[in-house]
Amino acid sequence: MPKLRKEKILKGVPASPGISIGTPFHYVHETLNVSRNVIEDHEIEQEIQKYRRSIEKSRALIIDDKKKALKNNSADAAKIFDAHLLILDDVVLIDEAISIISNQNVQASYAVSKVMKDYQTAFENLQNEYFSQRAFDVEDVCRRIISNIIAEEKNEVHDTTVLNGKKIIITKKLFPSDTLNFDREHILGIITEYGGSTSHAAIMARGMAVPAIVGVQGIGKWIDDTSLIIVDGYTGKVIINPTPTTFEVYKKMQHAEEKQYLEDLNIAKLKSETLDKHKVSISCNIQTDDEVESVLKWSGEGIGLFRTEFLFESSLSILSEEEQYRIYDKVSKDIFPNNVIIRLLDIGGDKLQDKLRLKEDNPFLGVRGLRLLFDHPDILRSHLRAILRASHRKNIWIIIPFVTDIYEVKRIKGIIGRVKNEMISEGYNVDKKIKIGIMLEIPSVVMIVDHIAPLVDFFSIGTNDLTQYTLAADRGNEKVSHIFDSLHPAVIQLIKISIESANKHNKYISLCGQMAAYPIAIPLLLGLGLRNFSVTPFLVPVVKKIIRRELVSDCEKLAEQCLQNGSGRKINKILSDFFTNTIGERMIK
Ligand code: PEP
Ligand code: MG
Repeated sequence: MPKLRKEKILKGVPASPGISIGTPFHYVHETLNVSRNVIEDHEIEQEIQKYRRSIEKSRALIIDDKKKALKNNSADAAKIFDAHLLILDDVVLIDEAISIISNQNVQASYAVSKVMKDYQTAFENLQNEYFSQRAFDVEDVCRRIISNIIAEEKNEVHDTTVLNGKKIIITKKLFPSDTLNFDREHILGIITEYGGSTSHAAIMARGMAVPAIVGVQGIGKWIDDTSLIIVDGYTGKVIINPTPTTFEVYKKMQHAEEKQYLEDLNIAKLKSETLDKHKVSISCNIQTDDEVESVLKWSGEGIGLFRTEFLFESSLSILSEEEQYRIYDKVSKDIFPNNVIIRLLDIGGDKLQDKLRLKEDNPFLGVRGLRLLFDHPDILRSHLRAILRASHRKNIWIIIPFVTDIYEVKRIKGIIGRVKNEMISEGYNVDKKIKIGIMLEIPSVVMIVDHIAPLVDFFSIGTNDLTQYTLAADRGNEKVSHIFDSLHPAVIQLIKISIESANKHNKYISLCGQMAAYPIAIPLLLGLGLRNFSVTPFLVPVVKKIIRRELVSDCEKLAEQCLQNGSGRKINKILSDFFTNTIGERMIK
């Protein structure tokens, strides 16, 4: 039982679902003591060799971490370490450190810390989430190199971080390397002060299936080592020193969760329908072909979104038609007879900026997605050819990202048609009636969706971007995470317009943004008429569990109540209460 101290509730961004209850472990990054010691000329070569050995040691450790991430079934987390390997091989970074050692006669550890600080200053000044994430990765890699140099100098072996019992980790920011350094068995939950729901800490937590909340600013001042904390990874609530009543409610939810974990695999196989027998499909979002295994494990009904740009991110160059074809063909084969919705490359924004040497002051409003594909006809052509070659089983649909205007739809359809005809005349067995749809992720296109509907076969609502562009709040920036709210009435209205219009025109519509797996939003989405959800594979059972406990008739009333409301905060409260009072109770029966 918790001590009777005053209950305090803080709100952050839900980053990984689940409930955990426990005491905190304040994780403070080890300060790397690096001083500027001058060395003699004859010692320079020795320092450079020490630096090179440390790079190799760091490489081995990063590869180990990548393997651990893959073992945890987290392809997303593994990709972070792929990016770290690329940083390790970055010649500019290596040359810069070597030239500091030899030109300034300083130790290797100092040279690396200098490079790290220069990067941070440069990126910080840009005030951009993508670049600050990159600076964060460079910092993580450099810290590894420095600590390996120090360990060699002191002849020490680096230990993993020891947690004294099971704890909730509280930290300002969490590096990917830190996460795997903890013994997974001892991590109950994670709370960070910084980072958005798409930050690396969030991805790592989801990969390890640890409940997590990010962006809880100032949490440190509310807790001490004896505080009892509840992490509600579903709603983003951190409850400090809960009252006995709150404690009991969460304890019950937690017991139910534990008991149901083993049942999840079975639940994933059950029918996806509401209590009043409305069928709802749950498909999966993937980033790489490796994730197909998870889709099958959790019985996802096909792939609702294949974010192809991530394939390009972990490779050094733009993938060829043949390389892409092999991937799409394998995914189509493994998922058959279900469908795979392949999204055309959504490069730009925060993705692949450096590979295409895009330098824009405002990348989220710049040459992103379809705009970029129009500017790079060669990339678009080989991409389309690869997808069309793989379409012979007729289970591939194409979805177009970042559409703002009807003329863009006409133009891309024209290009797809021409490439398709060309391939048919070359003798390829392509799906002549391949379905073409668009992402509804920009408010302008939602407002003209009635005009576009006759031109396309289907839609998918991308609430991550729809929220970002409706509320003018960067989706990855924790400083505006209190504004970024997919439950804002304006976003809900746009979702309503989208679903109504698709239904009116008899077109398939799904929702593939993070909102589809946000537990309190699911009843609302059902009430608005949504019947197709696409979520991260391991979240299929959670979403299915909620859907199976819903009555569409109740959800419609709930949606009506939300649509009458002009305040995002009130809507959040209405949905939280509905979830706790009805679904929460049904879940713990
Ligand atoms: C979205 O914007 O909601 C979406 C699903 O696409 P992404 O997150 O890849 O931008
Ligand atoms: Mg998007």
